Amino acid sequence: MRGKRVFVAGHRGMVGSALVRRLELEDDVTILAAPRNELDLRDRIRVRGWIEAHRPDCVFLAAGRVGGILANDTRPTEFLFDNLELELAVILGAFEAGVSRLVFLGSSCIYPRGAMQPITESALMTGALEPTNEWYAVAKIAGIKMVQALMKEHGARYISVMPTNLYGPGDNFDLLSSHVIPALMRKAHDARICGANHMSVWGSGTPRREFLHVDDCADAIVHLAQHHDGYEHVNIGTGQDISIRDVAELVADTVGFNGELRFDHTKPDGMPRKRLDVSQLDALGWQPRIGLRDGLSATYRWFLDHHMAMA
Ligand code: GDP
Repeated sequence: MRGKRVFVAGHRGMVGSALVRRLELEDDVTILAAPRNELDLRDRIRVRGWIEAHRPDCVFLAAGRVGGILANDTRPTEFLFDNLELELAVILGAFEAGVSRLVFLGSSCIYPRGAMQPITESALMTGALEPTNEWYAVAKIAGIKMVQALMKEHGARYISVMPTNLYGPGDNFDLLSSHVIPALMRKAHDARICGANHMSVWGSGTPRREFLHVDDCADAIVHLAQHHDGYEHVNIGTGQDISIRDVAELVADTVGFNGELRFDHTKPDGMPRKRLDVSQLDALGWQPRIGLRDGLSATYRWFLDHHMAMA
């Protein structure tokens, strides 16, 4: 990375901002970011022009239309079209502008609903997708294929990485569009403040998810950018999963809410299990450092400092 110019597309999002924090620790790296009001990352012509003008050596594509299970399930158009448009604009724009290195960020939801656990990279496109997030998944799979096409035909040194479910500072705490951890944190916080004796947890509580702190994820992404080349994508995660009931209890404990968890069966469970096989990442020399309990405490502190201050 030394002496490089690095463009973080999506630098205001949870992952993009974590990447910026991580890259700031590197010696002699110039971080490039395009303010949202200056550049719509879905606009192919302007994105290519911006990249040509700013000449990055490396692009991290961390921008995207993201959301939790309900947002994915109810806004398929945005999740499919916005993500496809920005992948096309940034990946092709970077290639046409002569950028030599690009890291595309996907998601563990690309894998089939019934994939064998833990999910290896080779499970991609071996079965039907989970219906609650298939639109987002299809867009992310297309991104992997764009990267592979440029590598296969033109030898581009572009790679794809697939992070598991992420949480941490900078997360979205809006109850309707967020992922499970920030949603539960906000609900537990509000319940404690109001003195409520219960809070709602969507679904049955039995699905299992793997959670990675976003700072660990950013560290893994930079590690792979430096130490990995390859046609196939690489999973990023901890290799450990936990039930939604257990994570809800852990969040309630972190926040100091002692009331009852009420499971709302009118809301979807989504994928029954989503645990990544991280042996490739491990073999490439990277392991996570932030445990779930510590990560949740740090996230709650961030929520109290930032979110409550804005309210
Ligand atoms: P997913 O991994 O794509 O399913 O994304 P989510 O993080 O949105 O949801 C993970 C699991 O947590 C699903 O089984 C949800 O039903 C469950 N869950 C429980 N309570 C909540 C909540 O308040 N918000 C969200 N988003 N999910 C919840």
